[in-house]
Amino acid sequence: MEAALRKLAAGNWKMNGLRADGVALARALATRAAAAPPPCELLICPPATLLMAVAEAIAGSSIQLGGQDCHASDKGAHTGDISAAMLKDAGCGYVILGHSERRTDHHESDALVREKAKAAHAAGLTTIVCIGETLAERQSGQTLAIVSRQLAGSLPEGLDATTLCIAYEPVWAIGTGRTPTIAEVAAVHGHIRQALAARIAEPGNVRILYGGSVKPENATALMAAGDVDGALIGGASLIAADFWAIAEACR
Ligand code: PEP
Repeated sequence: MEAALRKLAAGNWKMNGLRADGVALARALATRAAAAPPPCELLICPPATLLMAVAEAIAGSSIQLGGQDCHASDKGAHTGDISAAMLKDAGCGYVILGHSERRTDHHESDALVREKAKAAHAAGLTTIVCIGETLAERQSGQTLAIVSRQLAGSLPEGLDATTLCIAYEPVWAIGTGRTPTIAEVAAVHGHIRQALAARIAEPGNVRILYGGSVKPENATALMAAGDVDGALIGGASLIAADFWAIAEACR
């Protein structure tokens, strides 16, 4: 069951960038996007403090904007948090949820990710729900069981393929320079597609992104793997030329 979707290159800037660098990076990408038809769909997810400025910098371009997290409630006494409606109001169309760094740093469970996804969908955002195994889990042969469990727990009911992306991000590949083999990536993505078939009418229309040390040097091979519909890119998304080279590999 392989999808033929236009690929998505999504940049996760994480906690990087002050206003001047963030706006310069966004402008550099918007300039490239204006020069020729973009090779694939493009999304950047800056830190919350930069959303408004980056929205202005990419206004009128084909580059889309996303947040890196949202709260499960629509408003209220949640100091330091951001609601899905606030992201939407800032110009976002997407939100990353359940990134392994949030699962680790903020102890986010599958159940919490599911509540956040519900809130994001209700606010009209497309979610990028991140799943992936640790090195110990891979080494003990549990990868497929772990991603199945995370999918089952993190996705709400009533899914719509047009507002859901899954990012398969092996935890041990994030920021390490290590990646699974192409065959391993294809096997996990195929498994995710099969698991989605039990949850959603058109599983072939859900983008399944690969994330974890995607670089210009390995992007062509990774993006050609079966059931890979794009990339979630951390470190390399902070350099306009590298992000663009990966986007080209998504063509
Ligand atoms: C990420 O954090 O989502 C990620 C994939 O990071 P990197 O590309 O730096 O491994």
